[in-house]
Amino acid sequence: MRLLTTVAALRCYLAQHRFKNQLVDQAQLLAFEVTARSKTAVGLVPTMGALHEGHLSLIQRARQENAIVIVSIFVNPLQFSPNEDYQRYPRTREQDQLFCEQAGVDAIFAPTPEEMGVAQKIVQESKVTQVIPPSAMISGLCGRTRLGHFQGVATIVTKLFNLVQPDRAYFGQKDGQQLAVIKRLVADLNFPIEIVACPTVREASGLAVSSRNQYLTATQKQQASVLYRGLQSSQAAFRAGVRDAKALIAAVRQEVAMFSSVLVEYVELVEPNTLMLIEEKVEEEGMLAVAARLGSTRLIDNIILHDRQPIIAIDGPAGAGKSTVARQVAAKLGLVYLDTGAMYRAITWLVLQKGIALDDECAIAELANHCVIQLSPGKDLQTPVQVWINDTDVTQAIRTHEVTSKVSAIAAQSAVRQALLKLQQNWGKKGGLVAEGRDIGTQVFPDAEVKIFLTASVSERARRRQQDFQKQGQPEVSIEQLEKDIAERDRKDSTRKVSPLQKAADAVEIRTDGMSVSEVTEQIVDFYTNLR
Ligand code: AMP
Repeated sequence: MRLLTTVAALRCYLAQHRFKNQLVDQAQLLAFEVTARSKTAVGLVPTMGALHEGHLSLIQRARQENAIVIVSIFVNPLQFSPNEDYQRYPRTREQDQLFCEQAGVDAIFAPTPEEMGVAQKIVQESKVTQVIPPSAMISGLCGRTRLGHFQGVATIVTKLFNLVQPDRAYFGQKDGQQLAVIKRLVADLNFPIEIVACPTVREASGLAVSSRNQYLTATQKQQASVLYRGLQSSQAAFRAGVRDAKALIAAVRQEVAMFSSVLVEYVELVEPNTLMLIEEKVEEEGMLAVAARLGSTRLIDNIILHDRQPIIAIDGPAGAGKSTVARQVAAKLGLVYLDTGAMYRAITWLVLQKGIALDDECAIAELANHCVIQLSPGKDLQTPVQVWINDTDVTQAIRTHEVTSKVSAIAAQSAVRQALLKLQQNWGKKGGLVAEGRDIGTQVFPDAEVKIFLTASVSERARRRQQDFQKQGQPEVSIEQLEKDIAERDRKDSTRKVSPLQKAADAVEIRTDGMSVSEVTEQIVDFYTNLR
């Protein structure tokens, strides 16, 4: 791991590492010189140091999704007002270095304020260009008391994005207002960066882990956990049908009032992306956010309230029986089956149909962003979901060996995944669905109520695939060939740079060797019913 403390060192590191020389034959090299160097994905985790489990969750996610992970550690003077804890903020450089080393970080970028061009004198004299987020997003919640805070955050994050030029940047849902501001910044200023939101990591008491928790005594920490209990009590009311903003806020206040030492600064209910105040009723979703003081320590927390039925997300390798099981679970529970695999197959079919080369990512991106995919449930459990792409019924055509052997190459393309992700998440807004794929629980619906990772040995999956082909009257493919294809697809799926196959930390693994479809279905239905 490298420690980089200057902009020059960071630039040098990136120049050396972000482009990886690929082996290509000489003729190719002469024809397309530029393809000889392919960019490797860089993930950035911006932090202020004093690293903890919350930061670790961001680093781990970045590690899974990128070839290079850079953690920035910078206590940003721009985001502290004069009466705040800039001087006192914990600085634990040596510990942080060890922490990053153990977490598999490639480089830490830890500049001084002078190096970042925001030394205190410069800041006090307003001698630096700043990025100002929309006032509607920074006038409520923490913006009410932390004047200039989000402008300071937006400015430093912009500088980090320009310096590191990451492919993805990771932020915690714990700082919900900051997350919304950064998402908006990236959209408004056209940064070609994917913002990845990570769930809040909590202590066993429910207290959100934070660098500022170091300021608290053991007793204060115990008392501080009342903030999450307040949020939970409101969530329970929401689940029981309460939608009125005032009542939901009152539920938090009532719980927190149990400790007179915890002084509430605000409890607000806002729309999570625009941060517009929800004054009357929560329609689709709301972010319920709280800030409070305990002695001289200021703490924040939030939860997202969704007005939707549950989502069951089923992930796992190719051929583990995900689609059969998902369809049965959906039928048993009266939920909708969202066949995302069929969507990828449909695009693959269209690419083959149009004779587009599989590596012509630009042409495929065009296609994915402009095609119309429709799904409708099969007549019964034996009939597959019906699929149309651009009004052509491709229900049968997408199940051929040719499509099966090419779908992985298409699904690995970032633009295709982005196009389908939008579509799937739109369907997910209302919930009440069972979805399966290879990144459903990790990427598409990371907040799914039930996450299952379905797997089986390669030989079992090859045997099942052969039976499927026989049933569909497809030409015979040998078991050896199928095993080879499946093993190769596993390898591609789990090593691809975009959304690799992985089990979500909170997923339940079911190994289906020797189990019938109805046994697996029963297990998932039981799991779902017990949760409720
Ligand atoms: P900070 O060092 O406090 O500026 O935080 C750096 C990043 O870590 C921000 O994106 C935070 O939202 C995120 N973060 C801090 N605490 C947590 C937590 N408990 N769970 C998840 N993310 C967190």
